[in-house]
Amino acid sequence: MPAVPSILNADLHCHSVVSDGTLTPEELAQRASANGVELWALTDHDEIGGQQRAAAAAKAHGMRYLTGAEISVTFAGETVHIVGLGFDAEDPRMQQGLADTRDGRGPRAREMAEGLAKVGIVGAYEGALKFVGNPALISRTHFARFLVEAGHCKDTPEVFRKYLTEGKPGYVPHRWANLRDAVTWITQCGGIAVIAHPGRYKFNATEEYALFSEFKAHGGRGVEVVTGSHTPAEYVEYAGVAREFGLAASRGSDFHSPGESHCDLGALPYLPGDLTPVWELLADRIQ
Ligand code: AMP
Ligand code: MN
Ligand code: MN
Ligand code: MN
Repeated sequence: MPAVPSILNADLHCHSVVSDGTLTPEELAQRASANGVELWALTDHDEIGGQQRAAAAAKAHGMRYLTGAEISVTFAGETVHIVGLGFDAEDPRMQQGLADTRDGRGPRAREMAEGLAKVGIVGAYEGALKFVGNPALISRTHFARFLVEAGHCKDTPEVFRKYLTEGKPGYVPHRWANLRDAVTWITQCGGIAVIAHPGRYKFNATEEYALFSEFKAHGGRGVEVVTGSHTPAEYVEYAGVAREFGLAASRGSDFHSPGESHCDLGALPYLPGDLTPVWELLADRIQ
């Protein structure tokens, strides 16, 4: 019998105040446990500063834990997110790779504020900073929270639509890590790389095929099939892609905040039974 069953309430994607979530690692662990999560991973954007706290809190609640991070990558001109699971968070290669990926966020945020000032939204940089839990990780989400608070929009999706997506006044194109590097950091540190929420990318069929092919060629092994960012039709679609490419499947809410996230921690359908769950490949990395 496998050490960890495949039918499992695993939530392997969520965010804390260490990136753009609003709960601490301890509050997330409490909430995940209350929702019946059995195996958990905190996957802050480009950051592993919350890993020790998350692992300790998971243990205190009797949940199993995998280290996690969601790395921002630029592929074919688009931002793609790669989730790393089960890597050694103490490994300096991972720490350096993430530090380099985070590096441009400060100047980018200042440029975003300049763009917003041009359309009459002043003080956005300082406003966004008030929502930032980790100064190294200022993100579009923090700007969105400021714009809602200041009354410019009714909610964060509206901010993204009107101000923070390509072609809009607060959007600044940015070059993140490259796919090969992100996958390599994760795998050389003992973890597995997973393509996050593939249904969200605006790729045509050829570009999507290239993403999956190159990801596999670099050593990537998993894909999120059941995620809070997918529709039920996309669960089916990406289960098919997992079979086609021989990838293991992951499951995660992408929870950020009780007030903003429509999918709560652990509140997802199980993975299709014929797929290999990512945690089967990570049995020796589970804490
Ligand atoms: P950044 O890494 O600074 O580009 O910010 C990306 C983050 O913005 C994502 O991880 C989401 O949390 C959030 N985000 C992106 N698109 C949207 C959207 N349309 N509505 C709400 N939040 C979004
Ligand atoms: Mn986010
Ligand atoms: Mn993401
Ligand atoms: Mn995420």
